[in-house]
Amino acid sequence: MRIADVRVRFFRYRPPNPLVSSVGSRRVRLLCLVEVASTSGLVGVGESWVNFPSWVAAERHATVVEGVAPLLVGHDATDVVDTHHRLKATLAPVGRQSGITGAVSQALSGVDLALWDLLARERDVPVYRMLGGGRSRVPVYASGLGPQLDEEIVRAQMARGIRAFKIKVGFDPVEDYTQVARLRHMVGEDARIMVDANQGWRTPAEALQAIKRLEPLQLDWVEEPLPCDDWEGMARVAAQSPVPISAGENLYGREAFAWWAHRGAFTIAQPDVTKVGGFTEAWAIAQMMPAYGLAWAPHFLGGAVGLAATCHLFALAPGGIAVELDSNPNALREEVVEPPFPTQVEAGCIMLPDAPGWGITLREDWLAAHEVAWHEAWQEADRSAAQGPR
Ligand SMILES: [Mg+2]
Repeated sequence: MRIADVRVRFFRYRPPNPLVSSVGSRRVRLLCLVEVASTSGLVGVGESWVNFPSWVAAERHATVVEGVAPLLVGHDATDVVDTHHRLKATLAPVGRQSGITGAVSQALSGVDLALWDLLARERDVPVYRMLGGGRSRVPVYASGLGPQLDEEIVRAQMARGIRAFKIKVGFDPVEDYTQVARLRHMVGEDARIMVDANQGWRTPAEALQAIKRLEPLQLDWVEEPLPCDDWEGMARVAAQSPVPISAGENLYGREAFAWWAHRGAFTIAQPDVTKVGGFTEAWAIAQMMPAYGLAWAPHFLGGAVGLAATCHLFALAPGGIAVELDSNPNALREEVVEPPFPTQVEAGCIMLPDAPGWGITLREDWLAAHEVAWHEAWQEADRSAAQGPR
């Protein structure tokens, strides 16, 4: 089985309300699917992160079409791990030289996911079982809450049996406390609460002051208190914080995770299969973290394909806390697939099916109706992203 073709496609969804974090707000959500077709007629599907800002569609299209596809077509489609390392060795220097390390890694992620899906489909087995995984129940936590708490969304997640919640902070300190306190009051003392600052505090002193203010609300972790390139500051915060520190959604490659882990810059690692270099890379990171005495919790905030792959990763690697599940309505996650996997949650868990590949069935009619060209996505980009925090 050889690789016959590589395609990259974009799909657009406009949520009812803009999504707000300390980085900015977005009114358009995109899904980037990478499809790898084999000479045997099968197609594997992967997802590449294009969540924010939406003008990255232009870069992603160019990187996959010009940078990645020529390295794949005609090659063996079954040697996924070797292909991953070959692509990484070729493209990582290009990314460093041109200042797009993360973007190259995100493009590689989409291809890597598609290759695993393709191989498992060819063997007619789920990815996680093909690689030796046995767990089929995947616990999830509800993320994407705040900064203004929507109680209806929280109640809907509680009705699905979810007992862990993550809310945005990094805005006005008094308002941060008020919103987290509202959440604690709603979900009760036994539920788990995490907060995500999205790199919103500027110095270790500011971050530690904010964390200590929120600590009485019993937090399981504080996510990205400082800019993701400040590992020294993160190490100082992690050493002094009364609450565990998590990070990793903006780190690229296992080497970066090893660097941070070795220096104590986080206590919970958060690789994202659609960003970090794909399933191959995230699996290596998840397996590595226990050796440092660290936990991991996969980051994810995209569409159905990436969510399914994240669940497969969780089923394979030990030491995971729970899979991140965006609480906000997103047709790119919920309507793009035939239900129930991966959108159905029961007793706080997603169940992995026995279907081959990622185990999902994409709705071709839905895809056709929502597809946009890369330059259409770019023209409709959420320009508030360039305006900084709200
Ligand atoms: Mg986050």
